[in-house]
Amino acid sequence: MLTLTDERDSTADIRAAVRALCANYPSEYWRELDRERAYPTEFVTALTESGFLAALIPEEFGGSGLALSAAAAILEEIHASGCNGAACHAQMYTMGTILRHGSAEQKARYLPAIARGELRLQAFGVTEPTSGTDTLSLRTMAVRTGDHYVVNGQKIWTSRAEHSDLMVLLARTTPREQVRRRTEGLSVFLLDMRKAEGLTIRPIRTMMNHATTEVFFDDVRVPAENLIGEEGRGFSYILSGMNAERILIAAECIGDAKWFIEKASDYARERVLFGRPIGQNQGVQFPIAQAYAQMRAAELMVHEAAALYEAGRDCGAEANMAKLLAADASWAAADMCVQTHGGFGFAEDFDVERKFRETRLYQVAPISTNLILSYLAERVLDLPRSY
Ligand SMILES: Cc1cc2nc3c(=O)[nH]c(=O)nc-3n(C[C@H](O)[C@H](O)[C@H](O)COP(=O)(O)OP(=O)(O)OC[C@H]3O[C@@H](n4cnc5c(N)ncnc54)[C@H](O)[C@@H]3O)c2cc1C
Repeated sequence: MLTLTDERDSTADIRAAVRALCANYPSEYWRELDRERAYPTEFVTALTESGFLAALIPEEFGGSGLALSAAAAILEEIHASGCNGAACHAQMYTMGTILRHGSAEQKARYLPAIARGELRLQAFGVTEPTSGTDTLSLRTMAVRTGDHYVVNGQKIWTSRAEHSDLMVLLARTTPREQVRRRTEGLSVFLLDMRKAEGLTIRPIRTMMNHATTEVFFDDVRVPAENLIGEEGRGFSYILSGMNAERILIAAECIGDAKWFIEKASDYARERVLFGRPIGQNQGVQFPIAQAYAQMRAAELMVHEAAALYEAGRDCGAEANMAKLLAADASWAAADMCVQTHGGFGFAEDFDVERKFRETRLYQVAPISTNLILSYLAERVLDLPRSY
């Protein structure tokens, strides 16, 4: 049996507990949901009740106050077990916007309820159809009228909006022509979707089972007290959460890669052709070994980024590289796993094709590979800016 968890890891206990929970949600469970594009409610409830989703909320607000590396270990194990954290990973980290930039009143009001799982904050409305990656061109406007803001516009790919009570929303509060710098004039709101009139949520059916939506705002009133931090400084608040998100998603990719490598190794040992296991052929062994080496290298960068983050040091480059390398490692492992399985790689019952579809996302979201390369080229290597 391939041992993929480092026994020296200080997160060994938490990993074992996550594995035990995930064992209750075997591949048949995910396969069935995948067919129906249904939300894994039971799995998310179990994770919530176990407290895993409150890992990053400080103890004073009712969470476990764990370090980012522990949260990364939780998500990695979920994925290495064949489960999918995308249904709820944002419940772990979206609250960081309130924690870092919210008022004392907002923290006291929301964080304990989020920690208990009574409030779901797992919708994050940034991307828009016309602006895409070019976030600073977003058009959704929030106009202050008395003690409210009135929001009009549209978001796309707002994942889990149908399974969330609250949304962290980025909108423009000062028209772009009236600000000195493009990064100014955007604000962040905590939108209570349970009370919002004029909000329309439409699911988008995707190639994998991912509860994503488009959201339309038609004169949606948001109380001014739900503004997070200062008006006009929202873009910096959103940026401040991106390193944690990238490290956590990278950990999911490492988990996926481990799943593919273990699945392929098992199959290559068991499948006998020409009188011997296919894994005895180096043409089959080497791609598995290559995927393993690639995953381990990416894993080191995830650990490096998390360590820098936990030390309060700048980790922009490392968080981006962790996401890039881990997403590449999981995709390479996915491709290798299909090839190792031959025709069975395409059969639903083997789960490989489902995980293959799921892990493809991370080349594009939450940030696409090109944009990371652009960041490294321009911010780290000082090459001329392309945009
Ligand atoms: C399933 C799913 C879930 C998502 N969940 C959320 C969510 O919860 N909240 C949210 O706000 N967003 C979410 N997103 C959006 C995601 O962050 C974006 O899809 C992603 O950032 C890319 O933006 P885009 O799709 O508009 O592509 P575009 O910006 O249109 O880019 C298209 C392609 O062009 C490339 N490209 C664009 N500009 C450049 C450039 N200057 N140089 C080189 N290449 C470039 C990109 O890399 C990409 O490959 C989700 C997306 C998906 C698919």
